[in-house]
Amino acid sequence: MHPITVIILAALLIDAVVSVAADILNLKSVRTRLPAAFEGLYDPQRYATAQRYLRVNTRFGWMTAAVNLAILLLFWFSGGFQWLDAWVRGLGYGDITDGLIYIGILVACKALIELPFGIYATFGIEARFGFNQTTWKTYLSDRIKGALLAILLGGPLLALILAFFLHAGPLAWFYCWAATVGFMLLMQYIAPTWIMPLFNRFEPLEEGALNDAIMAYARSIDFALDRIFVMDGSKRSSKSNAFFTGFGRHRRIVLFDTLVEKHTTEELVAVLAHEMGHYKKKHIIKNLLVGIVQAGVMFFILSLFISYPGLFAAFYVQEVSVYAGLLFFGLLYAPLDGLTGLALQALSRKHEYEADRFAVHTSQKGAALITALKKLTVDNLSNLQPHPFYVFLNYSHPPILNRIQAIEKAI
Ligand SMILES: [Zn+2]
Repeated sequence: MHPITVIILAALLIDAVVSVAADILNLKSVRTRLPAAFEGLYDPQRYATAQRYLRVNTRFGWMTAAVNLAILLLFWFSGGFQWLDAWVRGLGYGDITDGLIYIGILVACKALIELPFGIYATFGIEARFGFNQTTWKTYLSDRIKGALLAILLGGPLLALILAFFLHAGPLAWFYCWAATVGFMLLMQYIAPTWIMPLFNRFEPLEEGALNDAIMAYARSIDFALDRIFVMDGSKRSSKSNAFFTGFGRHRRIVLFDTLVEKHTTEELVAVLAHEMGHYKKKHIIKNLLVGIVQAGVMFFILSLFISYPGLFAAFYVQEVSVYAGLLFFGLLYAPLDGLTGLALQALSRKHEYEADRFAVHTSQKGAALITALKKLTVDNLSNLQPHPFYVFLNYSHPPILNRIQAIEKAI
């Protein structure tokens, strides 16, 4: 076996073992006694349902991961990458088109393999726990729109990256980086205004007490806001949320209709104070900058490996090509990417505490923020006591009880 084969295989297996171990710790850390902070909010039956929801999702996650890994290994060790490469080359369309076809076919196959799992998660699990509101029509049209967007947006970027590595010489990585940064910035603008409306309806929040209260709060922290949007999240799920996207004129604050329905004006102002806190504390720009640096580092390391023959030998592919190099590098780089992901998640959890503190200090609605978070937790059947190691691996937000504690201290 080629040393790079061993490295990638070991990384895949270690990753699987570590995440299953974290899952097991997580399942074991669930307590049957309801934490004091949630007494009166969770009735014992619903609390038991939340724990069942966690177990069902964990087991389903194992099955999905096992099937995905098995298919990857089967394809890899039966020479699938070489077989597909020979077939694509046989078409004789030239390097860039070959690359688009090669990567396109593999991405499409991955999506097809994942499709039944996604369907079961939505119409099986989410439906069983009373969350799903997606119709088959919405589900299928979501998948189709997603695929078209991937082709329309991802295709040209991929073609550009292939072209740079084929023709631009030693600075190719830098041009790829520049193109990717341009793409990331473009997405910041077109995501809220053009892409998200393809999937959901966004209506301005109607005039009234809620609108006035949010506007008054925004003025008090000097946050220019001309409209608040309500999104028809209920089209897909009864779970609720709020979020913030975009920059400058294109920034948007969005409330799910399900959130508006279930919360008081005070709670909603507190939730939006948290969202605006992310903006005021510059979290959005910081995340974007980190993403830009990350992409630069990745492309530079990619440039060192992209035509390294060992990488191709590791996947039993005979001819060196930019497109296959790109793909195989992705597998080699995954552990490093995973580690940076952990650092980013830790940063995100820190940002959540900061946004909470910002909301408490500027809105004086700490108590309302706590009740809003508690309601969200109960409605979404979130896990009250995740294991710290599981949090470290998977959580972008701190566990709810830690958040409540920190908010209480800040009040
Ligand atoms: Zn947040």
